[in-house]
Amino acid sequence: MKILLVGAGLSGAVIGRQLAEAGHDCRIIDSRSHIGGNCHTERDSETGVMLHVYGPHIFHTDDEGVWNYVNRFAEFMPFQNRVKTTSQDAVYSLPVNLHTINQFFGKTLRPDEARAFIESKADSSITDPQTFEEQALRFVGRELYEAFFKGYTEKQWGCSPQDLPASILKRLPVRFNYDDNYFFHRFQGMPREGYTALIAGILDHPRITVELETTFTPAMAEEADHVFWSGPLDGYFDYSLGRLGYRTLDFERFTYQGDYQGCAVMNYGDREVPWTRITEHKHFSPWESHEGSTCYREYSRAAEPEDIPYYPIRLVEEKSLLEEYVRLAEAQKSVTFVGRLGTYRYLDMDVTIREALDTAETFLTSAQTGQQM
Ligand code: UDP
Repeated sequence: MKILLVGAGLSGAVIGRQLAEAGHDCRIIDSRSHIGGNCHTERDSETGVMLHVYGPHIFHTDDEGVWNYVNRFAEFMPFQNRVKTTSQDAVYSLPVNLHTINQFFGKTLRPDEARAFIESKADSSITDPQTFEEQALRFVGRELYEAFFKGYTEKQWGCSPQDLPASILKRLPVRFNYDDNYFFHRFQGMPREGYTALIAGILDHPRITVELETTFTPAMAEEADHVFWSGPLDGYFDYSLGRLGYRTLDFERFTYQGDYQGCAVMNYGDREVPWTRITEHKHFSPWESHEGSTCYREYSRAAEPEDIPYYPIRLVEEKSLLEEYVRLAEAQKSVTFVGRLGTYRYLDMDVTIREALDTAETFLTSAQTGQQM
């Protein structure tokens, strides 16, 4: 079969690879000048540091199949994300852990004492938290919420945490020990030569052709037997029902001779500081050595039509618009919508890969039995 995949990010690459290995011809197009989507990495021409051009990406998963899959195409180096946050003139450790709690409250609590102490701060009248704010008040209480989450979240999402779903905060654990690894997944690492090299490895198959700086046209779809669309869901339908909300990011690059902040990610919890975080990219590749350093100050804002979409906002009031688009998408029998933009969900890389592998398998099974997906 002739397959068209729109988008050369993780979803397009993984689905393309699986179908190519099964004997299908895959044409992958991308409007940008590079593969890899927002995972794209490249070396800074001035400092030589590997840059996460569209913001930090740390690979972490509990899915052994996904871990084995990425390790087929790239060498992974051990990497654990240890994030710090600056709030009210002090630096703390994230995710909220025993060190954060003891430092913030000026105490020397042991794990059980800290658990009881935080429980006493938490708002136990909230039994079924729905919003980000309710989730925070229920699990860490007002003081920690205001120091670490409220201002950051207002900057990151451009709205009140009362309007955001609890699921966003559920990404972050609270720990009553000194474990400051941002993720608790079994497998964590960083591709030695960056994500673009990983994705190039996945795309390296004789049945795959990649065309960059190429915009989708309906004529391309007519030439194909099936289309996998990893661009924005609403974009496929020319935004005919209205636009789904996205946040985009602006990065202010600066260089420094030496070590600017001593860690890869420094968050800024205070509302008055306009950026959300500063990333110092050489710390994402601790096995390399660079004198110079490249840092990004990261600012979040509502995406305009011409901006690159990063985070689907998924405000409660957007739910019905999303449902309408999903209905339209489901009615497209020869198009499958995939990935973060194609399904309008906040997906981590490992989940994206898992879904892409499963989508390819379902497609191959139905192609064999002659059914439409
Ligand atoms: N968050 C926060 N303070 C922080 C870090 C995160 O309030 O210092 C909130 C914020 O709303 C963010 C969410 O938790 O969007 C998820 O954080 P994560 O680090 O997973 O965000 P990502 O790295 O995907 O942008």
